[in-house]
Amino acid sequence: MPHAVTFQKVSRHFGNVRAVDAVDLEVEVGEFFAMLGPSGSGKTTCLRLIAGFEQPTAGHIEIFGETAEGVPPYRRNVNTVFQDYALFPHLNVADNVAYGQMIRGVAKAERLRDAEAALEMVKLPGYGSRKPGQLSGGQRQRVALARALVNKPKVLLLDEPLGALDLKLREQMQEELKALQRALGITFVFVTHDQGEALSMADRIAVFDHGKIMQTGTPEEIYRRPKTRFVADFVGSSNVLSPDLTRRLGGPAEWASLRPEDIRLGGEARHEAQVTSLSFLGSATRVTLDLAGEKLTVLLPAGTDVPAQGASVRFSWDPSALHLMGPQA
Ligand code: ATP
Repeated sequence: MPHAVTFQKVSRHFGNVRAVDAVDLEVEVGEFFAMLGPSGSGKTTCLRLIAGFEQPTAGHIEIFGETAEGVPPYRRNVNTVFQDYALFPHLNVADNVAYGQMIRGVAKAERLRDAEAALEMVKLPGYGSRKPGQLSGGQRQRVALARALVNKPKVLLLDEPLGALDLKLREQMQEELKALQRALGITFVFVTHDQGEALSMADRIAVFDHGKIMQTGTPEEIYRRPKTRFVADFVGSSNVLSPDLTRRLGGPAEWASLRPEDIRLGGEARHEAQVTSLSFLGSATRVTLDLAGEKLTVLLPAGTDVPAQGASVRFSWDPSALHLMGPQA
């Protein structure tokens, strides 16, 4: 079976900016695929290349096994949900959702029926006659989603679609998006700079930096076994240990990552450090240790004993928690 999306050495340069730089990528059919990376790392440009709003400077793109070269956006069987939703303020919700079908000449009764079905999918049944201005941010987001789904795309592209929502609504929409994707079986390609969002929703994640993919893998792989210190640093708030520090802690002279939640305090542990700061996070307390000039972060779940600031503590970790990345990561 072909992949939903294939990139072979795809580049998109703007003058001397290498927005996307020789990227190889395979998105499986039916998967929830996240593109994660800092601002300016090339995620949105990749999405626009899939949608057909951008053309590659070099390389080859296939969508469901067919070459994308020369195929305009509206013939790609791909739809985009933009961050700002891009709804028409003067049209009501039903007409916004049905807009694409109107352009394609679908009869009014049919397109309004499809629009209502799409609104039901996103839990907004009966909202068709409202104007976008009469909706909350979360509801507008759902309308944008319904408008993309009504065309029954094979691939749905989402560019930071939850960026404008407050935390609680974001978390709710993350669950709903994931459930919707499962129910519909459509391939989702999701752009985000939010690690938690990518980890909680995606089947697989590609981590971008400077126009390149640094690592692709399941959330578990990306989180537990980062290949480079950039990935370790960016995904979660891991301790990235220099080769010298790893050696001082009894490991080989290699870059390593050690998750804050994998470090234990107290007991007869061999290593000792100073507590330099404490932050209460609700479900946990973050403790920063100073280890002869190097910083180490520890996450203590609520209910465990928290040491005092300035105290000297012993610490240890399960040997399997120290993830080695090689001398040159
Ligand atoms: P963000 O999370 O901020 O949206 P991103 O990872 O999606 O960032 P892109 O929007 O793909 O990043 O941009 C990648 C790089 O390409 C940036 O340096 C950006 O300034 C540049 N770029 C993108 N589009 C253009 C353009 N049309 N003309 C010139 N430079 C561009």
